[in-house]
Amino acid sequence: MRKNIVAGNWKMNKSFDEADDLVNGIMELLEKKELGKNTLMILCPPFPYLEMVSDYSNDSYFMVGAQNVNDNEKGAYTGEVSAEMLSSMDIEYCIVGHSERRAYYGETDAMIAKKVDQLLKHEIRPIVCCGEVLEEREAGKQFDVVKRQITDGLFHLSAEQFKELVIAYEPVWAIGTGKTATPEQAQEIHAFIRKTIADKYGKEVADEISILYGGSCKPSNAKELFANPDVDGGLIGGAALQAEDFVNIALAF
Ligand code: PEP
Repeated sequence: MRKNIVAGNWKMNKSFDEADDLVNGIMELLEKKELGKNTLMILCPPFPYLEMVSDYSNDSYFMVGAQNVNDNEKGAYTGEVSAEMLSSMDIEYCIVGHSERRAYYGETDAMIAKKVDQLLKHEIRPIVCCGEVLEEREAGKQFDVVKRQITDGLFHLSAEQFKELVIAYEPVWAIGTGKTATPEQAQEIHAFIRKTIADKYGKEVADEISILYGGSCKPSNAKELFANPDVDGGLIGGAALQAEDFVNIALAF
């Protein structure tokens, strides 16, 4: 049975002390209310806080992910972080291909494919983001865009490798804007993504993959989004910066 996942992408927010407070706030709330048995929580803090958050994760209910990784193995890439480094710190997940990285740092599907390869080589599960911008949605091109991102970024993988992935569908027009995809829009494209995977790798693989929704997900809309058969949780930005909101989203299954 595929997992329900709520992953918090903190982006470039919070001082060290604020980040420490956020983890503590999440843990306090999780001591009072248990997550569903099939629910996995993942916290994705900025690189400098990975170790601090990982230390807490040893005795609690969440796993830890990075927000990015370099597409090369090692070497003269000043300021970059490799999959091998993350793996040596026991980091279990890593977000790849977030729309902000595609838009501001020129990440292409080819680069994302290399990042995914690096992560899988070092036994880190990629959380791979896809999703269309507003003009593409308005032109009815969302299916083509998402299919291209998945095909070019991921379809070089074997079925065994593909099973390690988490996919996050994030319509760019919904990220940080307060506009959320309707539950129907989310279900429609999540089902399309699952079918695209099934056409390539078979139904068994497609049924094992958790497909998360991302884009202004909050406690007030999480329940109806997650109630859809192909929406297996959320990649959460803004609402992940507040312990109560984030935990309430994770309790929405
Ligand atoms: C995100 O950036 O992955 C995201 C979903 O952000 P927000 O929840 O703030 O829209």
